[in-house]
Amino acid sequence: MSVICDTCEVQTNIRVGMSNRDVQPFRFCCQSCGSPIDFTVGRKAGQGKGFTGAREIPAHAPFDDLTNFVDLHLDFPVKFGKYVMGNTPFLMAIQQIGHDRFAMHNQRLNQLNTLYEKQAEIRNLIRLYSGNDPQLFRIRVEKFLRTRLKSSKPEDINAGLYLLVSRAFEPFVNVYSVKDTAEGYPNVLIGLAKKDKTKLDDFIDHLANTRFLRNVQLDGLELYPAILDAELPLRPALFLDFDDKYEGGGLSPARVSTDKFNTYKDLYKDIAEVLNRQVVIVAGFNNLLHRGDYNAFPDLGRKKQPTSLNDFADIPFGSKMDWLDNCWFYFDREAVDNHLRNAIAHFKAEYDDSTQLITYFPKLEGMEQEKAQTMYFLDFMRKLLISFREMHYLHHLVKSIFYYRILIQKKDR
Ligand SMILES: [Zn+2]
Repeated sequence: MSVICDTCEVQTNIRVGMSNRDVQPFRFCCQSCGSPIDFTVGRKAGQGKGFTGAREIPAHAPFDDLTNFVDLHLDFPVKFGKYVMGNTPFLMAIQQIGHDRFAMHNQRLNQLNTLYEKQAEIRNLIRLYSGNDPQLFRIRVEKFLRTRLKSSKPEDINAGLYLLVSRAFEPFVNVYSVKDTAEGYPNVLIGLAKKDKTKLDDFIDHLANTRFLRNVQLDGLELYPAILDAELPLRPALFLDFDDKYEGGGLSPARVSTDKFNTYKDLYKDIAEVLNRQVVIVAGFNNLLHRGDYNAFPDLGRKKQPTSLNDFADIPFGSKMDWLDNCWFYFDREAVDNHLRNAIAHFKAEYDDSTQLITYFPKLEGMEQEKAQTMYFLDFMRKLLISFREMHYLHHLVKSIFYYRILIQKKDR
């Protein structure tokens, strides 16, 4: 296609690769003036929507390489650069990861194509679980999952929730790794109970009585629907699972063919916030394992140790890791980028729509915004995905603690 920018009247040639998604909203910025240009392609008649920010003119293929040019595809990162005939986004993607891996990526895309249409229903089911009518949740979730729950007891209602979460978010996670991790949690709990059940029960009573456990569960759950909302720009980030050459934290100048940074930066901050609280539970278990007291942190010599788990909760996320000595849970340090999180939290992050480059300033001191760091929107969405996965692993830990509480401690709250 070819369009003329409404703002600067300069022409851009566009090569659009088609996804299997019913509706495909695209967005890019005019390379001459930076103004956003939007359009939507539909697979069925009447689903498409014309251009906003530009008007279409007849296109003459093959394109020349002097005119502005963009490649677009929703399902994977697309290279910036000049038009090369035949180097379609699809072929370039296959070249990048090979046919077999492309098939795996494609399987997830197909799941997403079905799931995104159920976004509203999934959001509502999660809302119902968090509300105070378990019976209504049971009826609706049974219908959605096309299965029957054993009863309306808390353990079976919880089973419904976690089945829902597993189904609805399967394309976003590494299913095998989640299964392994989630199946390991009960062993950690049983091991601790064998060691000293009173101590373990004290800790879990503490988590439950302060409502810490319930709050961290509900606050985490609340973020799941937002991940489904981010399904479009997460597609290229998911693609990177299959690209061995991709290094997290590096600069990846590749285009995400939709949407904006500003929509997702709060989500990243919110996930970091939940992770920051989930790690308190990890630390409590670690202290029980190594010192038999959930409040007892290791003596690292060089700095004053937290005097209690409460004390630990107030430490900044990055420094929390120092106190997880020989930790039973492998924490992916990539999952939270403290510099980026701080910059976002304090509005010191700028986004250039046309290059998709994020510039952020982690240092807060002074009037000058010194020491800028940069990353592409694609790298950012990758970080968002990794953080979500970490939150998801720990969400399963919360689930296991609830099962322990209900089935072993015989307490329902
Ligand atoms: Zn323009």
